[in-house]
Amino acid sequence: MTMINILDDSTINKIAAGEVVEGPYSIVKELIENSIDAEATSITVEIKEGGKKYIRVTDNGSGIEEKEVEKAFLRHATSKISKIKDLYKVLSLGFRGEALASITSVAQVEMITKTRDQQYGISIEVNGGKVISKKPIGCPNGTTIIVKNLFFNTPARLKFMKSTQGETAKITEIITRLALSKPNVAFKYINNNNIMFTTLGDGNLSSTIYSILQDDWVKNMIEVNKKANNLTMEGFIGQPTLYRGNRSYEIIYVNGRYVKSKLVSQAIELAYKENLPINKYPVCVLNIRIDPSLIDVNVHPMKTEVKIKDEADIFKCISTSLKEALIEEITIPMLKVKE
Ligand code: ADP
Ligand code: MG
Repeated sequence: MTMINILDDSTINKIAAGEVVEGPYSIVKELIENSIDAEATSITVEIKEGGKKYIRVTDNGSGIEEKEVEKAFLRHATSKISKIKDLYKVLSLGFRGEALASITSVAQVEMITKTRDQQYGISIEVNGGKVISKKPIGCPNGTTIIVKNLFFNTPARLKFMKSTQGETAKITEIITRLALSKPNVAFKYINNNNIMFTTLGDGNLSSTIYSILQDDWVKNMIEVNKKANNLTMEGFIGQPTLYRGNRSYEIIYVNGRYVKSKLVSQAIELAYKENLPINKYPVCVLNIRIDPSLIDVNVHPMKTEVKIKDEADIFKCISTSLKEALIEEITIPMLKVKE
């Protein structure tokens, strides 16, 4: 006779962790997104050995109340939505309530958190999904989460991690994207005791681009501020001379969320079509705002995919507006030369 087993929570969480925690970079992403959702204005990320051994994210956000602390580590536990209807107006980066549960099921986690209203904070240690200590502690407002020894209890996954260099590169990429999406948050990124970058958090996107990318990007970018039908686009797009051999610097946000969208990428590339060499891709840091009821971000647990209603309309809007922005920029200097 075949037995049908009902899996226990620890096994369920480890399976789910496969989708949420692809590697150290996904932990960094989830933790920073939680800090952003907690309205932090300052976020520090420190990693060691490509995040495989150590990741620490500290924020000055809302913190978690003492009585809620343990709940945060449960699966499907979230303060961001309460019913399915909420999904269609979700503007927070998280809503699935599974990141902390997944991370703690495959690593050793320590969290220190304090709300403004509490006299003291709480320090809690969770090891492979089990709470091993919880005690009051003196600490600043906000939350610090330390994740050590990723995949210590899932040897098969441990083997699939990349070299320290490879994992570091992926972390740098995700922090860059998140920091560029929030110019009003001061980010600090430390790798093996070296400061990789800091941003001012002054709300200025061009100074944020300058702090992170540090070359002459800003000088070669065109500011975009367009409103078309039911979407707005803000940010910077590169001059056609500032191209890359792949899409990794087509940095796109939809309603503040970093996404990889083939539709948006193709619309951007169409705008550049006549101005770029073949097989080259434009660079941009572009924030698109759409009514949240017109998009679905609940496509995959990693939440980097987005489904857009009225795709054809949105595609046209993006490519036409960007083309306009490019033409304005390219033709104005030419006119000046003629004068
Ligand atoms: P989600 O972000 O989808 O809600 P998570 O598992 O990432 O799920 O987090 C669970 C809950 O823990 C959040 O909804 C939030 O209430 C709380 N939380 C997590 N990280 C932080 C943080 N840095 N600051 C304040 N609250 C946090
Ligand atoms: Mg989250």
